[in-house]
Amino acid sequence: MKVPIAVAHGDGIGPEIMEATLHILNAAGAQIDIHRIEIGEKMYLKGFPTGMDPAMWDILRKTKAFLKAPITTPQGGGFKSLNVTVRSTMGLYANVRPCVSYFPFVDTRHPDMDVVIVRENEEDLYAGIEYRQSPDVCESIKIISRAGSEKIIRYAFEYAKHHQRKKVTCFTKDNIMKFSDGLFHKVFDEIAQEYPDILNEHWIVDIGAAKLADTPEVFDVIVMPNLYGDILSDVAAQIAGSVGLAGSANIGDHGAMFEAIHGSAPRRAGQNVANPSGLLLAAVQMLVHIGQPDIAARIHNGWLYTLEQGIHTYDIYKEGTSKQKVGTKEFAEAVIRNLGKTPQTLKAVAYAQAHQHTTKAFRSTSTQRTLAGIDAFLYHKGRLEDFFSKISHINVGHLRLKMISNRGARVWPNGQPETFCIEQWRCRFLTDNNQPCTQADLIQVLHALDTVGMDVIKSEFLFYFDGKPGFTSAEG
Ligand code: NAD
Repeated sequence: MKVPIAVAHGDGIGPEIMEATLHILNAAGAQIDIHRIEIGEKMYLKGFPTGMDPAMWDILRKTKAFLKAPITTPQGGGFKSLNVTVRSTMGLYANVRPCVSYFPFVDTRHPDMDVVIVRENEEDLYAGIEYRQSPDVCESIKIISRAGSEKIIRYAFEYAKHHQRKKVTCFTKDNIMKFSDGLFHKVFDEIAQEYPDILNEHWIVDIGAAKLADTPEVFDVIVMPNLYGDILSDVAAQIAGSVGLAGSANIGDHGAMFEAIHGSAPRRAGQNVANPSGLLLAAVQMLVHIGQPDIAARIHNGWLYTLEQGIHTYDIYKEGTSKQKVGTKEFAEAVIRNLGKTPQTLKAVAYAQAHQHTTKAFRSTSTQRTLAGIDAFLYHKGRLEDFFSKISHINVGHLRLKMISNRGARVWPNGQPETFCIEQWRCRFLTDNNQPCTQADLIQVLHALDTVGMDVIKSEFLFYFDGKPGFTSAEG
């Protein structure tokens, strides 16, 4: 039975590396039924803002997987990222990027590197919720949810369990983002308890990134929120040898997308020079996903054997190590000749049937939630003293002005004269002694600010959860 898959040839070097990849898949006996879809630059320029005709969603829904070549996003505004659209619309919550060293055949300073980055794919700053609040101040909102964190962290542990991995590491910045990254870290600690045979550890992302760049061999599987994962998976792929060699899988409960991690390299297009390896390894992940692990292993091992033979495309060719510089088509032919062979120096791969991850019911957090205040953000170009006397008297019920901060630094009470202030001021009105208030009270605070002529650009309601504040305090 052939498995229906969607295939997009993309832009730039996309069509060449896709042809090479499909040629190898066919020669290896992959049982796939290809449904071609058109995406990318041409579609953007035809007026589809996401780079894809919405009619294509039906094809994506009916196929089991989407093998996608890189696309070119046209310059200028108004274009939405096709990748982000497909990931968020299809709920592809897990981005999985193996970053493996192929030393001594591909140069790297980290011969023992074998790291898998599992990146959360739907939340964080990638939700793209952004605002321009004043002429010179913009804001992005970072969303981290328990459900999103549980899904990706459980996926990382399940991946480790089914790929005989020993350790899962979590990277966050929860010393600064205590609520958002703090939740991700907390969920990591909870889920880790369900996998006593797998080691777990947490690193603050900055020092973790430094360690990854310097000593990647100490890591095994690393799970992280979206933005850190985006940046660090490229770093990991690059230090393993080349971004041109890494494939990635985007996995969801209702679909999956597989692609190389590099872009469409327009300057190399149409010259038969591009390395198809990233897309080929993505296709290998796809074959495992659609239940054809033996064919996946046959291709992967033939490819490793080709690297060992020193048959290399220009991007990894090195005098002394490499034997023959070849083009895209010739590289594909060499891999096809080597199907059925096993690498001698590099570790041969073996794939088991893919484990179907089922999303477990999410843990629920039951807390008593009490509304207790509002942060009103004001646009004011000037000094605090210019408007302080207009708002300091505002009181509605038990709500009183308790604090004013600028970019998170407290400027009242007990501000410091050195604090540099921009035109966005956060004014916190909170009830005395944690007493509850109503939404109507908070709207009255906004109304009072309007009455004294303040320019309100945004507000955030403040809650206590079981008596603990659900908002950070501003340090002076
Ligand atoms: P790029 O990855 O296309 O190219 C970066 C460098 O790597 C270039 O020097 C290129 O020659 C080389 N390179 C990349 N892939 C190669 C391969 N397979 N073989 C040999 N050399 C390779 O990044 P870029 O130049 O920043 O972006 C070009 C276009 O790709 C942009 O329009 C960008 O938006 C798009 N892009 C698309 C995706 C995607 O579709 N997933 C991802 C990243 C960038």
